Amino acid sequence: MRRIIAAPLLAAFATFGLAMAAPRQNHGDRKKAIASPAPSRTAGIPAGRIVDMTYAINGNLPSWPGDDRTFEAQVVATPAKDGYFARSFWTLEHYGTHMDAPSHFQGETTLDQIEVSHFFGPAVVIDVRDEAVKNADYRLTTDRVAKWEAMHGRIQPGSIVLLRTGWASRWPNQARYRNQDSKGVMHFPGFSVESAKVLMARGAVGLGIDTLSIDYGASANFEVHHVDLPAGLYNLENLAHLDQLPATGAFLIAAPIKLEGGSGGPCRVFAIVPDGK
Ligand SMILES: [Zn+2]
Repeated sequence: MRRIIAAPLLAAFATFGLAMAAPRQNHGDRKKAIASPAPSRTAGIPAGRIVDMTYAINGNLPSWPGDDRTFEAQVVATPAKDGYFARSFWTLEHYGTHMDAPSHFQGETTLDQIEVSHFFGPAVVIDVRDEAVKNADYRLTTDRVAKWEAMHGRIQPGSIVLLRTGWASRWPNQARYRNQDSKGVMHFPGFSVESAKVLMARGAVGLGIDTLSIDYGASANFEVHHVDLPAGLYNLENLAHLDQLPATGAFLIAAPIKLEGGSGGPCRVFAIVPDGK
């Protein structure tokens, strides 16, 4: 698998003009570079705008219904008492911006075992806001994927396919984000099994979305999870700032916590958007 993925990965970096275009910084400049978020001009990082697609974690983020206990942090050391500051924390594996590992739904691979090259890849962004405004239960169709490819070209192996539904505009309002009806059924858009199968056939390594789940909210049995995770893909859920990505050209970095045996976990997600995109 690594050999198959390596070529598009290298190609993606090449299109960013990675080859020594950025000036090398001396040690004194490093602090300044870390403090300023964009644009990236650090040696070894593709030139472009860095987008942080991650929500900060606290105990008040929209959660899955029934997940009442989500995140807790406790101070275990204070400067006054201990001479330094430290906390402990507890959280769910599936909360906030997070990654689903294949083992979440019958896949073999746990979070710490996912092939690391799959965490880097070209971002394909399919914008279905128009469809989602008209129908909160919208599921990505194979026709919509075909339309995207007609406009932007065939989805390449190693891609991470992100569905932009517009749901992020509801964050962090839990009621609006879940959008539950009187029976408690949620209504937000998602992938369909058919579209997921097309994306898998293209060689996508991950699917991502700006809602609570890659399955649409009204799903009773997580049908897309049952298809893509056992096949070895991962999911990114509750993504932020998809509005700052072009349909093609952004390079994604998805860095989950390396949690041994995890079914998923908090994930820091970045996109690098090349200049002019
Ligand atoms: Zn999840």
